[in-house]
Amino acid sequence: MKTRSYQLSQLDFGSFTLAGYSVAGEEAVVLAPELDCALDIGKCPREALSVNHVLLTHGHMDHAAGVPYYFAQRNFQGIEGGTVVAPVEMVRPLEDLMAAWARVEGHGPAHPHRFVGVREGEDYEIRRGLVARAFPVKHSQPALGYCIIDVRQKLKGEFAGLTGPQIVELKKKGTAITDRVEYPLVAYPGDTGRKNFSDLPFVAQAKVFLLECTFFDAEHVSRARAGRHLHVSDLPEVLEGMRNEHIVLVHVTRRTNMAEARKILKHSLPKETAERITFLMSRKYIEEE
Ligand SMILES: [Zn+2]
Ligand SMILES: [Zn+2]
Repeated sequence: MKTRSYQLSQLDFGSFTLAGYSVAGEEAVVLAPELDCALDIGKCPREALSVNHVLLTHGHMDHAAGVPYYFAQRNFQGIEGGTVVAPVEMVRPLEDLMAAWARVEGHGPAHPHRFVGVREGEDYEIRRGLVARAFPVKHSQPALGYCIIDVRQKLKGEFAGLTGPQIVELKKKGTAITDRVEYPLVAYPGDTGRKNFSDLPFVAQAKVFLLECTFFDAEHVSRARAGRHLHVSDLPEVLEGMRNEHIVLVHVTRRTNMAEARKILKHSLPKETAERITFLMSRKYIEEE
């Protein structure tokens, strides 16, 4: 037997990093430690225990299997306050799952847990000044994507020249002196069929767009359609109008030949789009030996 080291791939984007493991049908988890959340939980790698919020896109096993383990293991280690955010229709079955697991383990109440159901367009507050906004995707039902957004209050332009005491004075009078400004950091649809997201400005302008691209083989277009996944030939349409600084492809199959995949991208996309694309998984973790 040959063993393969299990390791999360890591990408650095300045103010935050993303670390994950994402192979179609096997496991999908991306951690954003500085943003205190996980995008899907996969099988719950050890590193996922330290983030307090899990944004679950849909219930397929490769994305969600680690949910009961996340709560049980955090409880075991005495880490309080974990929350799993999921499409609102999933909350009841997830509650049932926790209760069923308590029976499997042969103890009374389920491990402490907290599920928050969201609908498309809703914001979930991760912490003050940081929200996750749910958006619609095309996959299993239910399924939602999430965008993590840095929300700041910026002094209105008309007050820019004022001194500190003058601003305090205005504040005392109850004048609104700031505007709410949103900086979308990471957008993640999870699994999705063909869909263009450029009509959602917070997705189109997110610094990082984590996009699934499950199939690269020319013969696999029908498999992509059947599973509501993306094929590399869908990318020109899906990426039209997207202004993301970084496009990170995730959820490739284990068989993907990375060198070949890069070549296909180079030939099928405009140069300025292809240049923004990277893969989360490096070749040493995913190709069959
Ligand atoms: Zn998947
Ligand atoms: Zn799926």
